[in-house]
Amino acid sequence: MSKLQLRARLATTIGGAAGRVSRLAGRGDGSVIGGVIALRLEPGLLGKLAAGKQIVLVTGTNGKTTTTRLITAALGALGQPVASNAFGANMEAGLATALGQDAGARLAVLETDEKYIPPVLAATQARVIALLNLSRDQMDRAAEIWLLARRWRDALEAAPDCLVVANADDPLIAWSAAGAKQVTWVAAGQRWHEDSWCCPQCGAHLVREDPDWRCTECGFARPEASWVLDGEAVVDPAGHRHELALALPGRANRANAVVALAVAEAFGIGAEQVLPRLREVTSVAGRYTTVHRRGRDVRLLLAKNPAGWLEAFDVLGPSSVPVVLAVNAQGPDGRDTSWLWDVDYRHLRDRRVFVTGERRLDLAVRLEADEVAFELVTGVDEVVNQVDPGALDVIANYTAFQQIRSTFGRAV
Ligand SMILES: [Zn+2]
Repeated sequence: MSKLQLRARLATTIGGAAGRVSRLAGRGDGSVIGGVIALRLEPGLLGKLAAGKQIVLVTGTNGKTTTTRLITAALGALGQPVASNAFGANMEAGLATALGQDAGARLAVLETDEKYIPPVLAATQARVIALLNLSRDQMDRAAEIWLLARRWRDALEAAPDCLVVANADDPLIAWSAAGAKQVTWVAAGQRWHEDSWCCPQCGAHLVREDPDWRCTECGFARPEASWVLDGEAVVDPAGHRHELALALPGRANRANAVVALAVAEAFGIGAEQVLPRLREVTSVAGRYTTVHRRGRDVRLLLAKNPAGWLEAFDVLGPSSVPVVLAVNAQGPDGRDTSWLWDVDYRHLRDRRVFVTGERRLDLAVRLEADEVAFELVTGVDEVVNQVDPGALDVIANYTAFQQIRSTFGRAV
């Protein structure tokens, strides 16, 4: 064993031990702290752990965790272990931990934070990267998103061996992938158009005629997709239609599943083999889980940014089902809640709405403006006592979601 290999192994062992201590101390699942320590001991660790593995990276503003889970399920068809950062620890430390914990796995699917794509792509020599969508996350400025797309484009141009699976319906994604050597275009849809009215290439106004979009100035236009989400079904590159019939709800998850099918194709696995595996995924890191609480079926939905809130509204039960909205503004949520004004809440007018979380008053003002009636409450348990037995939906942003999960027990 060379000196470098020895250091990498030592770093992984010490990092793993730190992760176990962190878990025992009740500080999260331990995946990040172990990775942080390991990377400090061996900065080139990620590349060393990735060597000899076939790696899929998954990135975008929304849907990363779910798509990572779906692709992991799909690659299970190959009958080999698949390493993954299933709990969303998606910066370098989390990725190193995922690869280190499952050192024997030859396949890995890694959810990767948007900002870390260039170094992670270079370090892991990924075989496939899935680009889902790009929009504002909390208070990111439009200029930051454009800069990110530019960095992705440069990184992908520098990785000719990597297959890019990209959403043709998102102009910024299409632009960042346009310079790549190998691209599989997927028509996964885009509900949130607000961040992409301008041509990423020349800045002129984009013309949209659903599903097409094009720039009248420079000719940059929506690429033709080989995998197409069509209602409840997917059309594969040969033109065959397959019903998705997922257990996960909503259009956004159907789009995620289409991306998973396109990635699986790169590994030689066909749709009919993959679909039964995708249908078995019912909950992802607690999202979409239904918790039974004193005769109520409480379903938990996570929404971290304006596009995510629209996706969550899309999966709400019928209007007879009340909804709880929970908003915090701690570090991971972004401290500024002005993004609340970007969401159209009028979808909620026909149902009973409860508002909670540390920033419930900010949300209340916003709902007032959209003429949505609501009731202020201290938490989900208070609502459980007020509503009739049956279904109850909860939409929460990141730390509010984690608080609700821990109230209901970590098993959720
Ligand atoms: Zn243009």
